[in-house]
Amino acid sequence: MTGKNSRYTSGFHVAGKRRRRKHPEMPAIARDLETLAIEQTTNGFVVLVFRVPGHRQNVLTPRAVEELSLVLDDLARGPAPRGVVVRSGCPGSFFAGADITRLDEVRGLPAADIASLCDRGKQVFAKLSATFPTAAVIDGACLGGGLELALACDLRVVTPAAHTQLGFPEVKLGLLPGWGGTVRLPRLIGPGPAVELVASGESVGGNAAVRLGLADACVPAERAVEAACSLLAMKAEDGSIVARRRERSGPVALDPVERDFLEATSAAVILGRTGGHYPAPPVILETILAGAAVDAEAASRTESAAFATLAATPVAGNLLRVYRIGERNRRDTGINPSGAAEPAADTAGIAAAAVVGAGIMGAGIAASHLRAGCPVALVDISAEALAAAVPVVLEEASWDRAAKRSDAARAVELAGRLHAATALAAVAGADLVIESVTERPDVKQQVLAEIERLVGPQKIITTNTSTNPIARLATGLAHPGRFCGMHFFNPVRRMTLVEVVRGPATSDATVAAVVAHAKRLGKCPVVVNDSPGFLVNRILMPYLHEAGELLREGVPPDRIDRVARGFGMPMGPIELYDMIGLDTAFYAGLVLSAAYGDRIEASPVIPALVKAGLLGRKTGAGFYRYSGAGQRERILGADETAAAAIARYAHPRRETTDRTILDRLLLPMLLEALRGLDEGLVRDGRDIDLAVIHALGFPAFRGGLLAWADSLGGPEIVRRLEPLADLGPRMHPTERLLAHAGSGRPFTE
Ligand code: NAD
Repeated sequence: MTGKNSRYTSGFHVAGKRRRRKHPEMPAIARDLETLAIEQTTNGFVVLVFRVPGHRQNVLTPRAVEELSLVLDDLARGPAPRGVVVRSGCPGSFFAGADITRLDEVRGLPAADIASLCDRGKQVFAKLSATFPTAAVIDGACLGGGLELALACDLRVVTPAAHTQLGFPEVKLGLLPGWGGTVRLPRLIGPGPAVELVASGESVGGNAAVRLGLADACVPAERAVEAACSLLAMKAEDGSIVARRRERSGPVALDPVERDFLEATSAAVILGRTGGHYPAPPVILETILAGAAVDAEAASRTESAAFATLAATPVAGNLLRVYRIGERNRRDTGINPSGAAEPAADTAGIAAAAVVGAGIMGAGIAASHLRAGCPVALVDISAEALAAAVPVVLEEASWDRAAKRSDAARAVELAGRLHAATALAAVAGADLVIESVTERPDVKQQVLAEIERLVGPQKIITTNTSTNPIARLATGLAHPGRFCGMHFFNPVRRMTLVEVVRGPATSDATVAAVVAHAKRLGKCPVVVNDSPGFLVNRILMPYLHEAGELLREGVPPDRIDRVARGFGMPMGPIELYDMIGLDTAFYAGLVLSAAYGDRIEASPVIPALVKAGLLGRKTGAGFYRYSGAGQRERILGADETAAAAIARYAHPRRETTDRTILDRLLLPMLLEALRGLDEGLVRDGRDIDLAVIHALGFPAFRGGLLAWADSLGGPEIVRRLEPLADLGPRMHPTERLLAHAGSGRPFTE
């Protein structure tokens, strides 16, 4: 409908048909428009239909904003239309936000220039409520700048479709809405709900938007423009549009007690959610409260200044980079060296999948298939294990995140797509099989060989092994080219990383298909080479191992955990040990110490705890004692039996500050990551940052492990390692580190 240099004059739109006819009273707009088309209804309304070329979703490019401005000026000059409706011609997207690719450029500008860029956008949006009545018809993503555009209109009509989502995700990039969002939203829905929506970055669907007061009506897409025109006519006639505009240009009436209460409670919630590491949410709270107390014009200036301040923070820089590397991953096929844009591999070939092994992992993997709309067979040798897994799979697959419970009707519907079986023959119809049986190489090899006999030679076979080399598991296969690792993380529903592990014989086609399939499941796949611990466990183990060594030097477990959490990790290493399970950690430790024994020695503490039956949360005690056995139980304190075992293997005490604890936990992780880069473990260093964020919860505000290293700089890292050198090779700088320190070249590129 739109296109470069297409020339539009007024047209009109009736019941889905578009005919060109000039309304007698309309100004004829003749411009070369690239991003929008102009339609005209028979009853005197103008509809601006946006379709921004070159983007999958509509985004507010400078060109789109400029064209909106020009068209509004043209319309204001001629005989006024009865109203103007803004809608999207891009399926599933109203406006997904501003053009994020430009944000890096913007961040580099002086604060005053950033603020004036915000002001310029606001001036354009202000034209939407300056003269004729306006409405936004929202069918699809309406996020960030898109929602600010919609808020600048007098009315908003949304659709009930699942793709209709309204929200301000700026906070996730360390920013706040800078085109009037913090000014208009509190005037529309009240400061409290506005703080909640903007500071959380969550979005709401069409019906919820109406309940919140964010939208005026929710109607099916095919009637939305008509409904918007009728509403505009009605509200213009009864004077409410003019009254609303007047009311919204002033301050928000807020009782001082109410204001103080809102400030105190929101500040506490924000601190709880962010641990004080993210500057944007408290600034959002301050900006909304300060803006509510003054008129809209003054509030708008406060907002522009706050945006400029946040844009300059290192946290915003890190979050933007994490966003960019995530986007790169989204485009990455898994086989090209640079992750450059290429069409994703076709997953249409994978119509059905099978998971063998219905344990914790198999159940989670099967559920993620059902959620993604992929029928799945779930096989387990044990009828009891299968019977226990099926309700777990269905509950998880039908989980309604908004309602925080499973949807019974959906579970019944999904049950038809889940084929549970005790006979391996059930995998025969699958295009991709994921083996997730007990972590024993002999069992796995036998199961894999049997799977290969049951599926055709073109079908893909993967393993969820954590520790077995892919090369070893492939030895019994006739066609190892179609085999690779597909390593999920626990719990599957929450951890988005999937390591796609390339064995020596794995073909490019297999890697590309598995990467595309993981993306279909909503995961973030990172391709890694076959090496002990692959990528994530190899980086994690030095962190866990060092925490064990600190315990042996007499550092209390809760202090180690507190320091790690203070850095921004979701939990400390000792808590993590207990969550993973000390038996599992013991086994993984054996594999890793066999491979990298010079720097990861098997600690005697872990087998001592396992021998004492202290396996972690699942047994109610590990390093800590818990209120019961299970993942959600409360920590009661350090376990005494564990403390005695640690004391038996005590090391001499060292002087330890919180800084040295942190250095000891994180620097060996970094050194291991640098060794991995030397070995070509991943195709691109950015995959390391993505992997630690998505699998270990490494704090995104620090940008990942390598970005954190950049924040210190090579020379400082070498300096911090010096006093730790007597601890052994695990603290010795690698050649790569010394080269970075010498040249000043960043670790992230
Ligand atoms: P689990 O013990 O909970 O489940 C394994 C299941 O495999 C059991 O139900 C068992 O009955 C079944 N099984 C055993 N032999 C079988 C056979 N011959 N045919 C069919 N089913 C068989 O184990 P889990 O924690 O789900 O781990 C499964 C795999 O995932 C392992 O390779 C493990 O290393 C890997 N993994 C585990 C985690 C984790 O945190 N648990 C994380 C990532 C990967």
